[in-house]
Amino acid sequence: MKESNKKSLHVKTGDRVIVTTGKDKGKIGNVKKAIPSENKVVVEGANMVTKAQKPNPMAGIQGGLVKMEAPLDSSNVMVVCPSCEKPTKIKHEIKDGKKVRVCKKCGEQLDV
Ligand SMILES: [Zn+2]
Repeated sequence: MKESNKKSLHVKTGDRVIVTTGKDKGKIGNVKKAIPSENKVVVEGANMVTKAQKPNPMAGIQGGLVKMEAPLDSSNVMVVCPSCEKPTKIKHEIKDGKKVRVCKKCGEQLDV
């Protein structure tokens, strides 16, 4: 893995985010998965799609139609600050030599 190619998103797995555009606008959910290489995130309960799943007995999958979250563009979500509980932009600050994410609204650190 090349560190220099490593991109980072403003959201991370486990963040609480609000969808800001599209059919799920206003929906709040947790980030199930962040995909920095594609600039996308999978948000719990948002951007649901129905997919045909092929049966795979080896993996215990019966097959059929399954509902699942499709990745959203990371620019379509905003982090909901755990401190002020508002959708907010993130700024990066260096604290004790560590890069941390800070809420632009209340100034609280998002990563503990
Ligand atoms: Zn805040």
